[in-house]
Amino acid sequence: MTITLPQRTIPMHGDYDVIIAGGGFGGVAAALAAARNGAKTCLLEKSATLGGLGTAGFVVIYLPICDGYGHQVSYGIVEELLRLPMKYSPVKPNGAWNNKEQATEEELKARRYELVYLPATMSLGMERILLEAGVTIFYDTLITDIVKDASGAITHVVVENKSGCGVFATKFVIDGTGDADICKFADEECEVSKNNKPGAWYYSINTDNEIELRTRLYNPEKCPEEIKTMRLDGTDFRQVSEHIIRSHELFLLDNEFHNEKPLSETGKIKFFPGFVPSMACFLMTRRIVAPYTMTEADMHMWHDDAVGIFADWRKAGPVYALPYRSLYAQRTPNLITAGRCISTTGDTWDVARVIPVCSISGEAAGTAAALCLRDNVQRFADLNVGALQAQLIKAGVKLDRSLVENVYDDASNIRHKTTKTNFI
Ligand SMILES: Cc1cc2nc3c(=O)[nH]c(=O)nc-3n(C[C@H](O)[C@H](O)[C@H](O)COP(=O)(O)OP(=O)(O)OC[C@H]3O[C@@H](n4cnc5c(N)ncnc54)[C@H](O)[C@@H]3O)c2cc1C
Repeated sequence: MTITLPQRTIPMHGDYDVIIAGGGFGGVAAALAAARNGAKTCLLEKSATLGGLGTAGFVVIYLPICDGYGHQVSYGIVEELLRLPMKYSPVKPNGAWNNKEQATEEELKARRYELVYLPATMSLGMERILLEAGVTIFYDTLITDIVKDASGAITHVVVENKSGCGVFATKFVIDGTGDADICKFADEECEVSKNNKPGAWYYSINTDNEIELRTRLYNPEKCPEEIKTMRLDGTDFRQVSEHIIRSHELFLLDNEFHNEKPLSETGKIKFFPGFVPSMACFLMTRRIVAPYTMTEADMHMWHDDAVGIFADWRKAGPVYALPYRSLYAQRTPNLITAGRCISTTGDTWDVARVIPVCSISGEAAGTAAALCLRDNVQRFADLNVGALQAQLIKAGVKLDRSLVENVYDDASNIRHKTTKTNFI
């Protein structure tokens, strides 16, 4: 059943060159790049924090930006964000990567270049650097729709916030919602993953006031069969709530299981739920189908329109070039994606959904938006890719095809290994 609402006039809240929808890693990197390249940039975030899953979802492992054979492959804002929490806490990247300039290749090979951080050190740091770059941030502002002109370009985004319903005018839109919500509003072709299980990460506390990040909740004896077999796509409000409620159930079961264990010698170890995520924690929901969709065939394959390079977080070796064509919309000329809703599929979706790749696509999307504005280009598809690559390189991104094409025949095969610190 549907109902028709009466027509109404709503206020204009602002007019920006670039609007970024969502302040996860994709959106934050995009906003930074757009503003640093001169665009009047506004980031709209529905919650009260930046970082998305990487802060509000407690996903605090910034996965590797090296190939596992001692070579850093990702540069630019992706590395700036990885090192950002170091400003506010004593965390360090793995092994020799902290002082990478002084380290030998052998030392760098021993561990992967990643960082485990506290959520607040990332979200507070992100807010600082966005404000320094001149980005306007509006929190607690949910984008609910878009307005298009006759050419199919987005002219406004419609929002709901404390002031009620309103609009922002814009020339370019970057979809950093994680779930390709703006692409859906724009009637772009999307792929939906139906494979999400309930489950998320949460912090538990013990009687010694020690905090522990809990990441493995599927206890075979405790987990009810219906949760084990449940699969959700996360693009419908009922599913989102189901995922959150079932994840909460798993947190409680996890605590129950731990409290049943024999107490330690001190008799003090007891687990309590400490902090739960403030957003739904889906791995893969909806992503755009752009002019080019990345697949496994892209492993070690150079693209002439490469705008970033990333490694496989799961194992040493595979490296990918991110093609510009996998970011922008096919029907909506001024819409581009950043983060986990870019155009990838199958196994490559799993490789590309993680924090570093979200930051890389964000920097590319934000820079593209600013260059379109500078060069008076109306469609992302018409942007001169050589100019975009030159601008990215100027900002510190390395687009070196040998990083992608080299295949190392080395039995050491360093696996992803995370060091937990006692304050995550
Ligand atoms: C359980 C789990 C474990 C994971 N483990 C790791 C890991 O160890 N390491 C790793 O690197 N990655 C991991 N990932 C993946 C990674 O965390 C995410 O894919 C990545 O952080 C996504 O970033 P994003 O910017 O694309 O989207 P999100 O983080 O989802 O951010 C989207 C932002 O947009 C906002 N938003 C959404 N819709 C709107 C709207 N309509 N209006 C305004 N704002 C909106 C949201 O509030 C949010 O802040 C994990 C994911 C999960 C779920």
